[in-house]
Amino acid sequence: MSDHCQYCRRGVYNLCPDVKFFATPPIDGALQEYVLHPAAFTFSVDDLSPEEACLSEPLSYAVRQAEIALGHEILVIGAGPLGLPTAFAAESQGTIVGLAYINPERLKVVRQAGFDAAFSSYYEGKHCDAVFECTGTSGGIRSAQNLGRTGGIVALIGMGQSATMHLDSLDIIVRGLRVIGIFRYANIYPMARTLIRRYRERLRIFQSSRIPLSELPHFLKTKQYVHYIKTIVSLN
Ligand SMILES: [Zn+2]
Repeated sequence: MSDHCQYCRRGVYNLCPDVKFFATPPIDGALQEYVLHPAAFTFSVDDLSPEEACLSEPLSYAVRQAEIALGHEILVIGAGPLGLPTAFAAESQGTIVGLAYINPERLKVVRQAGFDAAFSSYYEGKHCDAVFECTGTSGGIRSAQNLGRTGGIVALIGMGQSATMHLDSLDIIVRGLRVIGIFRYANIYPMARTLIRRYRERLRIFQSSRIPLSELPHFLKTKQYVHYIKTIVSLN
C-alpha cells in the first residue's frame, strides 16, 4: 500500500497496480508455517474456526459494490465457492435471492442451505435488480445481461478461461444497464466475519469435503475437487 497511489488513497487497494497478493506470481502462497504480513491488513478470526474463517475471502465485496438494497430481487449465476457466499451476502441486505446453476446435485445442496435455486433456463424471461455472474462462462455472462432488469446492475465476478466477454452493447445502452467488474476485494474482513457468525449453521454446506495434506496431489490430479463446493485440507 502506497501513500502516493490514487487507488490506495481512495481505499480501493484491490485495484492498486502494485498490490501484492498471496499465490499470485511472483508472490508465494501462504501455505507455510510463518508469513510476514502488514498489521493493517491482518485480522483476527476471533471465535471462528479455521474452516469458517477461510470463507471470508470471497464474501460480500461484490454485494457492497453493487449497491443493492432492501427488497431488491437478486439473481446469482453460479453456486460454487464464489456464488454461494455472494448469495449469503446479498440475502443479508434484505434482498430476495435466487441462484441459477446447471448441476442438479449442486442445486440440491444449495436448496438445503435455504436458497431458491433452479436451472438457468427456469429464469428465462425474468428480470432482477442485480445479477451476479459468478461462473465466468460465456453462457453465464450472456444470461446475466438478459436477466438484468432495465436500469439494473450486472456484476461480473467469475473469471473465465476466455478474456473476451460477449455483451450486447446496444442492449446495455437502451436499457440503461450498469455493468460492473468486481476484482478481489477491499475493506471487507470485519464485515465478512460478522456475516459468517450470522450464517454459521447454513455455511456448514461448505465443509462437506476434508482431506489430509498427503492426499492433496492425488486429489488435484484426479480433479476430485469438482464434486465439492470447497475442500478443506487438514494439516494433521
Ligand atoms: Zn496502490
